[in-house]
Amino acid sequence: MKYNISVSEFLDQSKAGSIEYADFILSYLEDLKNVNKQLRLMQCISKEEARPNPFLFGLPVTVKDNICTSDMQSSAGSKILSGYVPPFDATTVSRMREAGAFIAGKTNQDEFGFGTFSTNSAYGIPKNPHDTARSCGGSSGGAAAVVAAMPYPQIALAESTGGSISCPAAFCNVVGLTPTYGLVSRYGLIDYANSLDKIGLIAKQVSDIALGLSIIAGNDHHDSTSLPVERSRYSLQPDIKGIKIAVPKEYFEHIDKEVEKNVWDAIKKMESNGATYQETSLPSTKYALASYYIIATTEASTNLSKLCGMRYGLHGTLEGNFNEYFTQVRTEGFGEEAKRRIILGTFARMSGYREQYYMKAMRVRTLITQDFKRVFAKHDVIAAPTMPVVPPKFTEIEKLTPLQNYQMDVLTVPPNLSGIPMISVPCGHFAGLHLMADHLQESKLLNVAAGYEAVK
Ligand code: GLN
Repeated sequence: MKYNISVSEFLDQSKAGSIEYADFILSYLEDLKNVNKQLRLMQCISKEEARPNPFLFGLPVTVKDNICTSDMQSSAGSKILSGYVPPFDATTVSRMREAGAFIAGKTNQDEFGFGTFSTNSAYGIPKNPHDTARSCGGSSGGAAAVVAAMPYPQIALAESTGGSISCPAAFCNVVGLTPTYGLVSRYGLIDYANSLDKIGLIAKQVSDIALGLSIIAGNDHHDSTSLPVERSRYSLQPDIKGIKIAVPKEYFEHIDKEVEKNVWDAIKKMESNGATYQETSLPSTKYALASYYIIATTEASTNLSKLCGMRYGLHGTLEGNFNEYFTQVRTEGFGEEAKRRIILGTFARMSGYREQYYMKAMRVRTLITQDFKRVFAKHDVIAAPTMPVVPPKFTEIEKLTPLQNYQMDVLTVPPNLSGIPMISVPCGHFAGLHLMADHLQESKLLNVAAGYEAVK
C-alpha cells in the first residue's frame, strides 16, 4: 500500500524527487500480474522498460485492447485479431507517451466492444474486484477493474460506443468520462461503429480525468471526424453552486430501488450545496435502444468485413476459393456475439432495407439529440443513474437473453447516440451518478462532477 497515492500526489512527489521510480514501477507491475492472475483484467502486460519522463514521470496508463499500440498485441478482445501488433500507436497512446506516461498494458474487454458485462472476451472473463462473483461491467471492463483493484496512481484509456466507459466505471466504483464525439482522436481505434465510437478515460478521481483529457483531447489531422478544437488544459474549479440540474423522469423507470435511492441522495446532496434541480422529460428516450442497435450493428458489420484472414491477425490454411477461406477464418475467429451482430447488421443494411432501418434509425437519432438540446437550453447538466442495476452476478448474466442484455444499455445509449459528453461518478456502492452536458461542455461537466465528489 506504499504507493496508494493520487495522481497529483505522484506527480508532486516525483517532481520533488521523493519517489524511487524503479521501485515504484516494479512494485506496480508485480501487483498488476498478481491481480491479473486472479481477475483476468489484462490481455497483455508491458515488458518494456519504463522511463520516468516529465511531465507525467512514468505514470502508469493502461490502454483498452481495441486501441492500437505499436509494441503490444491489439486485438479488441477478439481471437480474430490474435497476433496482431500494429505498426503504429493510436494518437491517444502517442500523446500519452509524449507526455511521459508508461503504457502498462492492454485491458480486457468484450470482443470489439460488443457487450455490457465483458463476458464476450476471447481472453477470459474479467471479474469485479469488489466481488468476484459479479461482472465488472463492459465493454471496458478490464480498464475500470484495474483502476479499482490497483492501489496506485494511474489512468486508463477506454472507449465507448453505447456506454462502455460509464457502465464499468459505475460497476467498479470509479470515475469514467466519455467526451464529446470528435474531441478525442479515433485514429488507431479498432472501430466498432465509427459514427458512435469515442475514446475516453477511467480513473479514481475527477482530477485525474481532467489531467488525462488535457493530454489526449484536441484536433488530429489523422482523423477526419476530429473537431477543430485546439489542445488545451482542463484546469478544474470544482463548483456546484448555482448549477441548474435537469432530472429526466424516463431515466428513473424500471431501475433498482437501491440505485434509485443512491442517485436521488446524490442529487439532494448537490441541492443542499447550492445547485437547483428540476424534473424534466426526454420523450424520445424510448426509441433510443432500438435505433442504437440498428446503427451500431450496421456499422459494425461493415467495419468487420476487413477481418478475413488476409491482412490482420488470425490466418487460416489457404484452401478452397476465397469465400471458403474467409468463412473458415471468420467462423473460427469471431465469437458468438460478434457473429450475431454481423448477421443483424448485414440484414439491416441489405439493399431494400436501408431506408426502412438504418435511415429511420438515423432520423430517430436526430430527435434524441433535439430532446437533449431542448433541456440544455435551460439547464447546465442532466443527472441520472448510470446503470439501471447493480453489477449482476455471472450466474444471473448466463440466464439473460440477448434482448435482455441489450436492455441494460437503456440509460447510456441516448447520450452516446447524441455524442454529448458524460461522466459517471460513484454515488454509493456499485452505483454511478451519470452527469451529462451539451457538446464540448467538458469543462463545466468536470467542474460539476468534481464539485459533487468534494461534498459527497
Ligand atoms: N453495451 C453496448 C453494446 O454492446 C455498448 C458497448 C460499447 O459502448 N462499446 O453495444
